[in-house]
Amino acid sequence: MGEYKIVVTRKIPDESLDMMKKYGELYIWPEEEIAMPYERLKEEIRNAHALYTNVGDKIDRELLESAPHLKVISTMAVGFDNIDMEYAREQGVAVGHTPSVLNETTADLAFTLLMAAGRRIVEGAGYIKEEKWKSWGPMLLTGQDIYGARLGIIGMGRIGEGVARRALGFNMDVVYYNRNQKPHIEEEMGVTYCELTELLQTSDFIVLLAPGSEETRHMIGTEQFQLMKESAVFINVSRGTNVDEQALYKALKEGEIWAAGLDVFEEEPISASHPLLSLPNVTAVPHIGSASIATRKKMAMMAAENLVAGIKGEKLPFEVQA
Ligand code: NAP
Repeated sequence: MGEYKIVVTRKIPDESLDMMKKYGELYIWPEEEIAMPYERLKEEIRNAHALYTNVGDKIDRELLESAPHLKVISTMAVGFDNIDMEYAREQGVAVGHTPSVLNETTADLAFTLLMAAGRRIVEGAGYIKEEKWKSWGPMLLTGQDIYGARLGIIGMGRIGEGVARRALGFNMDVVYYNRNQKPHIEEEMGVTYCELTELLQTSDFIVLLAPGSEETRHMIGTEQFQLMKESAVFINVSRGTNVDEQALYKALKEGEIWAAGLDVFEEEPISASHPLLSLPNVTAVPHIGSASIATRKKMAMMAAENLVAGIKGEKLPFEVQA
């Protein structure tokens, strides 16, 4: 047992715990699905040297102010919008995350949502279970064609590229909008850069994959939904805060767009009584983008490696670059 205290805010795979055990005394919140309450975390972190966290914890200034001994924060996620990076940096706390290892799994989920929303899969499954299915109907549960359609990707990073590769297999015409244009991707994959307005106006499917930040907060709202085609299918696998959910609800309800597939929400967990969930053209899942067994195990190990490096005072292997 080492001299350090490590706080782990969720029950995680044993292999990653074993790795960290050698370097400190672990406090492990015993739940997998119930987040560690903020006040409890604040209490536990007071004398801690390392924090193993995830997207469900708010690591804000107030929390960090109560942790004077903290050397490292390691999040089991690629996104770090839940962490006050500016203050962590000011305090000399290293922050690690888990990029790349989840690219393909998250791209799979984005494409799953795209197909499920486009072809009304969840609605169709409900149709059978609710005994609504009377006979084959010429226009029953008709959806949007995916093969050959135009896909607009907003935020062409590691996961965006994975979505683009899948789309090319479906003969989709892939356009993208990104903070910086990426000529090498255009060359490699034959995708086209497009200004945001044009992407919104011309795409049949739109996948949002920009990170959550002050800059991207509500980057898709009333004005952007109004630009989209009435037949557009909108997918968000990035962060819920990137989308104005009230505007999304109105756009779906009033037929400004055709359907949405959502993995992330402004408030997580989203309440089951949220108006968005009452709409038949919403396909919603609970932030499971990277949730394959293999990928989650790899993420857990990567986060443990970051944490151990931070405790040892070494450079984190996967340090947040923001
Ligand atoms: P990434 O490689 O950093 O890609 C993000 C891309 O977004 C970059 O190309 C970046 O452009 C672009 N971007 C940043 N700000 C932008 C803006 N204001 N407008 C347009 N483009 C902007 O990240 P990633 O690994 O692909 O992950 C993307 C995000 O997905 C993460 O930040 C996370 O929030 C989310 N995510 C969700 C799940 C899930 O379970 N649902 C899983 C993994 C990740 P530049 O290169 O020019 O900076």
